[in-house]
Amino acid sequence: MNIHTSETLFKEAEEHIVGGVNSPSRAYKGVGGGTPVYMKKGEGSRFIDVDDNEYIDFLGAYGPIITGHAHPHITSAIKTAAENGVLYGTPTSLENEFAKKIKSAIPSLDKVRFVNSGTEAVMTTIRVARAYTGRNKIIKFSGCYHGHSDLVLVAAGSGPATLGTPDSAGIPASIAEDVITVPFNEIAPLKEALKRFGDEIAAVLVEPIVGNFGIVTPKEGFLEQVNDLTHETGGLVIYDEVITAFRFNYGSAQNLVGVEPDMTAMGKIIGGGLPIGAYGGRVDIMEQVAPLGPAYQAGTMAGNPASMAAGIACLEVLEKPGVYDHLDNLGAQLEKGIAERASSHGIPVQINRLGGALTVYFTDHPVENYEDAENTDGEKFASFFHSMLEKGINLAPSKFEAWFLTTAHTEEDIRITLEAVDSTFAEMTGE
Ligand code: PMP
Repeated sequence: MNIHTSETLFKEAEEHIVGGVNSPSRAYKGVGGGTPVYMKKGEGSRFIDVDDNEYIDFLGAYGPIITGHAHPHITSAIKTAAENGVLYGTPTSLENEFAKKIKSAIPSLDKVRFVNSGTEAVMTTIRVARAYTGRNKIIKFSGCYHGHSDLVLVAAGSGPATLGTPDSAGIPASIAEDVITVPFNEIAPLKEALKRFGDEIAAVLVEPIVGNFGIVTPKEGFLEQVNDLTHETGGLVIYDEVITAFRFNYGSAQNLVGVEPDMTAMGKIIGGGLPIGAYGGRVDIMEQVAPLGPAYQAGTMAGNPASMAAGIACLEVLEKPGVYDHLDNLGAQLEKGIAERASSHGIPVQINRLGGALTVYFTDHPVENYEDAENTDGEKFASFFHSMLEKGINLAPSKFEAWFLTTAHTEEDIRITLEAVDSTFAEMTGE
């Protein structure tokens, strides 16, 4: 496949934009490097790159694009919003309409606030939890990603109940001291951490269904115990549903698992592809937020009419009957097809799937936590990724990411993808 124009553009980008990209994983860091393909048009399930090659897209922009690219209903809502002026700095009725729509799908949200990214949403839930409890520390789970604010870019310390260490330069050790990281899907280390630091813990933060070390579902009873143990010590439970809100159902992961957190952070899908974040929760907690309460959070772009209009339009598409069945049905075909081909080529894979999202791990063991995901074959994934891309299948460039299906994908897309999988596996085994 000829990607000369992408190569030229990437060289130029490297001169002007740090690392050539505006978000690190786009530089194919997780797959041994290479030239990122520059797309010029997205339509439905397909991309066209700057050299006019066509791809089936399973990246879904890392999650937000669940209705396919340039969905006509969303595009028309964005056009109308643009024609009416994109930013006012005053309230608009779109904010009310959208808040009511999200609340009616996610019952634990008494009150919400719109922000501009998932990072902002999670960062603010932590501030509000600290304001509400008067405590400083948080507990999170290893491998869960919660954006790039200081507190959540902290790695685990030497043991499950020890304090964290910064995961990025520029984060003071004093901030990492407020973060404890424990393994997902295991109760004993969480118990130990709560025993040791319980009366200092403002919140336990978790992706209720993980998307950031691949798709990993909670074990039976895990989230119930997270709630019970955290509440026993007087802390709050925050669900990071930036990926999961409206991904698997018209609602959120908490509706699926039947456990309600005290606060929820959202983003991605709810913006219909435009920048957005939102957080919400119980009324007595949310009333900590300015102008009602002492916890400050603001935003020039927050609740902007274009993001609101795109979000409302996206949810209007998603609330139609059959949408999530379609995603689940195609997801099941993909899962079955990949598993069959892997087995016939003798390549061990483990596929974690929920609805229209799945992760293919190159390993023969189940993946239930971050350690399991880390302990999978990254080199095999890298050759799989590059070979699939060469065949016109655009995947996320990391072994820790998910494939995201959209309402625009078709059975024909799956058939073409499985052919590419088959010949990629044949190349990988040297057949
Ligand atoms: N939380 C989760 C679960 C995420 O997956 C992400 C982004 N991948 C974020 C938060 C941060 O969102 P954003 O990139 O919009 O800041």
